[in-house]
Amino acid sequence: MSPFTMTINGAAVGSDQQLSVLDPATGRPFAECPDCSEAQLDQAVRAAKAALPAWQGDAEARRAALLKCADAIEAQAQAIGPVLTQEQGKPLGKALEELYGAALWFRSTAALPLEDQLLREDEHFRVELRRRPLGVVAGITPWNFPVLLAVWKIAPALLAGNTFILKPSPYTPLSSLALGEALREALPPGVFNVVSGGDQLGRWLTAHPEVRKISFTGSVATGKHIAAAAAPDLKRVTLELGGNDPAIVLADNNPEKIAEKLFWSAFANSGQVCVAVKRLYVEEPIFPAVVEALGAIAERVKVGPGSAADSELGPLNNRAQFDRVSELVDDARSHGAKVVAGGKPLANEGYFYAPTILTDVAEGVRLVDEEQFGPALPVMSFKSVDEVLGRANGTHFGLGGSIWTEDLDRGAALARDLDCGTAWVNQHMNLAPDVPFGGVKWSGIGYENGPWGLAAFTEYQVINVAKQ
Ligand code: NAD
Repeated sequence: MSPFTMTINGAAVGSDQQLSVLDPATGRPFAECPDCSEAQLDQAVRAAKAALPAWQGDAEARRAALLKCADAIEAQAQAIGPVLTQEQGKPLGKALEELYGAALWFRSTAALPLEDQLLREDEHFRVELRRRPLGVVAGITPWNFPVLLAVWKIAPALLAGNTFILKPSPYTPLSSLALGEALREALPPGVFNVVSGGDQLGRWLTAHPEVRKISFTGSVATGKHIAAAAAPDLKRVTLELGGNDPAIVLADNNPEKIAEKLFWSAFANSGQVCVAVKRLYVEEPIFPAVVEALGAIAERVKVGPGSAADSELGPLNNRAQFDRVSELVDDARSHGAKVVAGGKPLANEGYFYAPTILTDVAEGVRLVDEEQFGPALPVMSFKSVDEVLGRANGTHFGLGGSIWTEDLDRGAALARDLDCGTAWVNQHMNLAPDVPFGGVKWSGIGYENGPWGLAAFTEYQVINVAKQ
């Protein structure tokens, strides 16, 4: 049996069938995870349902439990970190950041208000507004930040009084299974369950009649399937989907000053971030200098296994993603793109791809129009702000975007013209537990984090009392 177990009703559960988990630094299997059967999933959902009444009863106990979860993650971070690195690919320091970030999110969520509101109190009526939990919630997560993105869902769902089933990506199940194990002591049995398996397990979970909400982070294509699968049962959904974020750099910038920050806004986690900069638009006068500065950083950055102390970027997470990035870069090249840096795989084994900067590419080429989700950035020039806003907004995506300028007021004004959920000025990707996050258009439905994320795991109930 795999040493990694599912958590069902507070207990460690294995499975007859196992799935291999590959190390993206080698492309070879290094561990197995249980492949949850439909009957086991049903057990998990039934356990979550049975745990609801007691869990819903005491909000203060739930807050205390969330703080225990934060402590448990911190206590286990050094043990889970290497597992996250080996299955995901990211450098160990980044894996640890993700785990400590998850603890921070638990702590911050535990402090959110969840009070009834008195809407009216007069001689005739007393009207109260209550926030009720939804019931059993399913969390379905991707492979780029498996622990942190799960905790964005788990913490508010549990605080609101729901119980939870987590289904991680089959590429990165182990850190989520380890999370389940770490939280077994902190939470009553059945409140938090973790099951591992392939996409089919996600479909079973989505269709399960006892699940009342699906909180999903992943691709647009899967998000649409989930929305359709949830519809017959009118399950609530929050969908955090893909992005193709534009960054617009105005000519008043000093290229040397912003290059490093711009580079990491696109290449952090090897570009596998939903809100990474995926299209870079630079105003003509400084275009050559920005391209040169980014190219120099791309050539200098150390790419290697996440376990090596000097690696700044790891491999891509999986073969399909590696093939996709290779294909998009080759396609751009065949359409006349110039490769300023990178443009090729880096090693004989594993999914390493060189940080890649391309120019002479435009809308109509796949690398610009589609979400690459990898270390290959198209850099394009523009002449006027009106023109570039049209290009930036001319897509189905609408997750994030940014304006880079020394004129902060102008930057903030232009940010309002970007069609996206978060528009930054002189930064990109800055997310926090007390600030809502979500996408417009095809990038999602609903919000996570802060009181807005908590509200998404509740429904209103009006208590209307006639006094006579
Ligand atoms: P994916 O959609 O392929 O898979 C995500 C999860 O959905 C996995 O757990 C998978 O097993 C499950 N799944 C697949 N098909 C399913 C189905 N029909 N029903 C139920 N579950 C199913 O996404 P991915 O490749 O793991 O992640 C990359 C994508 O995630 C990118 O598009 C990225 O932009 C997006 N993403 C978005 C955010 C955000 O917050 N908006 C954050 C991170 C990643």
